[in-house]
Amino acid sequence: MRFPRFQLSIVLLLFVQAGSTLAFAACSSSTNAKALHLSSVCANGRTIALTFDDGPAPPYSALILSILQSHDVPATFFVEGQATDAHTDMVRAEVDAGMAVGNHSWSHSDQLPTASSDVFALDTQIAAQAIERAAGYAPALYRAPYGHTSDSMLRGLRELGYVSIGWDVDSRDWTDDSVDQIVQNVLGAAHPGAIVLMHDGGLGGGNPDRMKTIEALPRIIDGLKRAGYTFATIPEATGASQEQTSSHLEELRCSAS
Ligand SMILES: [Zn+2]
Repeated sequence: MRFPRFQLSIVLLLFVQAGSTLAFAACSSSTNAKALHLSSVCANGRTIALTFDDGPAPPYSALILSILQSHDVPATFFVEGQATDAHTDMVRAEVDAGMAVGNHSWSHSDQLPTASSDVFALDTQIAAQAIERAAGYAPALYRAPYGHTSDSMLRGLRELGYVSIGWDVDSRDWTDDSVDQIVQNVLGAAHPGAIVLMHDGGLGGGNPDRMKTIEALPRIIDGLKRAGYTFATIPEATGASQEQTSSHLEELRCSAS
């Protein structure tokens, strides 16, 4: 289903905020099976996975991508559908650079955990369409806005073919923490298999200025490398497919929740 994009934002906002139960054209849940939710990845060796939420957002996303490339560090970007539609070239550049891209919703609404299954599916699928236009594939990874999931969301994600990705190390780059503290938040909590939460955009709330993240990132990478860590995207570290396939849910090399 396709809407003019400005109308789509309004439609989704109204439906999500109202918790609409309208039987929209998206599929309804017919199973109680829930999507796998991972907050860490395989701890083989000292693998660690950096993740960036809420982009693409100029100029921060390009600066972060440049830092990652100059340090030869793969990472995973959980992009928002609306931002992706506005900055398709940036998402394309992330994919071309070997980064993984996941779905971080269209609306970034905090109401998604309690939205009807149809509204949640619509929000997810519209974002997936935007990401597919930019990245060339529909992603198989989903990160819930604010990290807030619910049983109904996880059932919907399973039905739509997603793995849900959380984190277990929060850089807290979205708070008033200093650059020094952000670096310490990651280095002090790092462990083999960790998924690290950072941000390259600002729609998710808090301070939208990501310059502290950009200052902290080289120090975080250097510190982790000195501690013997190697970096991987979420698909590389778990065996999950980057894109939607029929059987990727059963192909994960390891899992945790
Ligand atoms: Zn977010």
